[in-house]
Amino acid sequence: MLKPGSTIGILGGGQLGRMLALAAAELGYRCHIFAPEADTPASEVAAVTTRADYGDAAALKAFAAAVDVVTLEWENVDREAVRQLAAHVPVHPGAHSLEVAQDRMAEKQFVEWLGGRTATWAQVDNREALDAAIAKVGLPAILKTRRFGYDGKGQARLMTAADADAAWEAIGGQPAILEGFVNFAHEFSVILCRGQDGSIVDWPVPVNLHKGGILATSTLPPPALVRAQAAEAVQLARTVAEKLGHVGVLTCEFFACKDGPRFNEMAPRVHNSGHWTIEGSATSQFENHVRAVVGLPLRPTTLMSARIEMTNLIGDDVADWPRLMADPTAHVHLYGKAEARPGRKMGHVTRLGK
Ligand code: AMP
Repeated sequence: MLKPGSTIGILGGGQLGRMLALAAAELGYRCHIFAPEADTPASEVAAVTTRADYGDAAALKAFAAAVDVVTLEWENVDREAVRQLAAHVPVHPGAHSLEVAQDRMAEKQFVEWLGGRTATWAQVDNREALDAAIAKVGLPAILKTRRFGYDGKGQARLMTAADADAAWEAIGGQPAILEGFVNFAHEFSVILCRGQDGSIVDWPVPVNLHKGGILATSTLPPPALVRAQAAEAVQLARTVAEKLGHVGVLTCEFFACKDGPRFNEMAPRVHNSGHWTIEGSATSQFENHVRAVVGLPLRPTTLMSARIEMTNLIGDDVADWPRLMADPTAHVHLYGKAEARPGRKMGHVTRLGK
């Protein structure tokens, strides 16, 4: 167990790192951000920042020497960098979680191995394989890069076989998977946290609404169909965390279909669909993640309200800040990003109660 006053290294400097650093500070821990960008949302609230590329071996070595434990808020960190860090300092979550969660094909195979159901899918390594995948999976379908996809990036939809060339080009001709279109009623996520002692807590599941591939809202309680499928999805996510030996928050996203939950993807970290836990739960995802990585016991995830809604402020939505700041029902979180580009997550608002 790391004493308060110890330093948590965080790979990545975005809003997730910012909220992790705030939670760490409340518990008396210092944070050291490692990120390639200047002036990140997380650096503004952390004790120290190293600005360097994730492949910079000398910077990684110095970072490992300066921190007591490493965690991450961005899972696409180079595996070699994580291996290098892990030789000097504990890294939570570990290499196994990252290897599976960085690759859409690996995560689907892993979840299927554990008995979970996913969309029908096929591996696509080149343009010819896309034709074979269409024959196997059927249309409509979505072509997704295996790596580095998030918020709908690295994806192209195919309605007819005539879309194949354009879709392959749109994703940059990278190793991919083709996924059959899932006819879902709702999307929801399981957010859980596993401690170093193997204990797991999970939060009640929100229903998530996406717009243009980006999360727009997370709401509790979810509709009846999601409530009916939550236990099965939570059980699967717990098994995933155990088999990975995961430490920290793990998020699994699901489609609620008529015939049960289908796993979509996982993130080995705190997640946008868990931001409501800051005010809506007895313990936020950020606090329990910090607790897990420093080896403290996890705290309960009891709901603080029967109804909770988190709304993302994307791009120009943030221009509404004067009204939101004046609204006594709105818990406003802004990430300190200077420029409101389209599709950029600028902040979020959580409301409890009716
Ligand atoms: P992802 O990056 O895989 O989470 O995809 C972003 C969003 O696209 C999801 O949250 C869904 O709204 C939609 N989507 C992704 N995959 C599928 C699928 N196989 N069938 C239907 N919709 C999908």
